[in-house]
Amino acid sequence: MTNGFIWHCGGFPMLSDGANQPRKRPQIQSVHILGDGCAALSLAARADELPAHEITLVRPSGAPAAAEHIWGFWGGAGLETATKLARASWTRWAIATETDRVVMTSSDRPYFALQRSEWTSHCRASAQANGVTLQTAPNTNDDMPADDAGIQQFDSRPPPVPRGMMLQHFIGLEVRASAPVFESDTAVLMDFRVDQSRGMHFIYLLPFSSTEALVESTLFSPETLDDDVYLSAIHSYLEVQYGLADFEVLRRERGVIPLGRLDRRDPAIPGIGGNGGAIRPSSGYAFIFIQRQIDNAIVAAKATGKLAVTSPHRTIDLAMDAVLLTVLRHWPEQAPELFLRMAKALSGDEFARFLSGEAGWGLRLKVVMAMPKLPFLRGALRLVTGGGAMKYVGAA
Ligand SMILES: Cc1cc2nc3c(=O)[nH]c(=O)nc-3n(C[C@H](O)[C@H](O)[C@H](O)COP(=O)(O)OP(=O)(O)OC[C@H]3O[C@@H](n4cnc5c(N)ncnc54)[C@H](O)[C@@H]3O)c2cc1C
Repeated sequence: MTNGFIWHCGGFPMLSDGANQPRKRPQIQSVHILGDGCAALSLAARADELPAHEITLVRPSGAPAAAEHIWGFWGGAGLETATKLARASWTRWAIATETDRVVMTSSDRPYFALQRSEWTSHCRASAQANGVTLQTAPNTNDDMPADDAGIQQFDSRPPPVPRGMMLQHFIGLEVRASAPVFESDTAVLMDFRVDQSRGMHFIYLLPFSSTEALVESTLFSPETLDDDVYLSAIHSYLEVQYGLADFEVLRRERGVIPLGRLDRRDPAIPGIGGNGGAIRPSSGYAFIFIQRQIDNAIVAAKATGKLAVTSPHRTIDLAMDAVLLTVLRHWPEQAPELFLRMAKALSGDEFARFLSGEAGWGLRLKVVMAMPKLPFLRGALRLVTGGGAMKYVGAA
């Protein structure tokens, strides 16, 4: 992205009723969003649904260059554009441990892989067509224009991450093998057959064909690790499980996603996206929650004339996540069994619904019943007695 460019096609012309009688302009609400990542662009792309709003995205002056990666998510209502743009999808996905492997299927809720650049390019083009202004903040002290003209502001810069917070951290390699080795119809969501000594650790493998796949070494723990740890896990996994000693690396991606309740980047500016509580604490999934947060904000704007950005998660789900994260932090050796039990207890549709934040009470109960009770009781007790409950639970 270059500095200093401005798109501006917004604004409403003077309206006329056809008899040279000017009609009153609709009241226009100006909205400035700091950032041009997933949340900001996903909202800007839908500016046509907010005709009484004039939207400006302000790219922060200190913003790093956007890095390519894949968004994985289950398809569902409201995600049609994203699913059409997706690079691949699977109706089968697997969870494996040293002792067992469960394959789940769903033709209604496939798992999709969407390339970040594909989504952001689409959103930029839609935003531009819908009259959104995109500008770069000239310097670090001027990231946001002063809120002196009734401008509604939102901040999508990443929130600060306190030391010691649980993180999902990973490195992924997109690899090409010289012979067919991957089961291209089955995404591997979690394969725990890797070293578990540093915290919950699994391989996430999205096979784009029998010879190409994204393979990620992913840990849930409070400390990130040297690159060598993730890379050697990927190499030895591919060698042991697929007999793949040599492969071409087409691309690398990395991420550190905070898991838990986060303060906003700037307490004075309402957040959106990860800075607005959209990351699901137990999984690090955010793409679908960001889309839901934007759906809700647009509904609010249609009803009240003002965008209102709220947490896309239910408090009960955040509470359950807090207990699960406590278990994973203190007893990570339980993780393979927990996820395997969940996969065995739920249908593919139920699994997709649960991880997409669409569980009702029946499904939540089914998940609770599938879990070993003692670790969760210990987790809940530890959370409450450690005073940590409110750190994690509650809408952002
Ligand atoms: C590698 C990776 C893989 C992921 N995979 C998935 C997945 O498979 N499924 C899923 O649901 N979620 C995934 N996520 C999590 C989540 O969907 C993304 O982080 C998502 O981009 C969050 O959207 P956002 O708009 O909140 O933040 P971003 O898209 O990161 O946008 C943040 C904005 O803030 C700006 N910014 C960043 N740092 C600074 C800074 N220091 N100073 C000033 N400005 C700054 C950026 O330029 C950008 O404009 C992944 C995240 C990463 C990093």
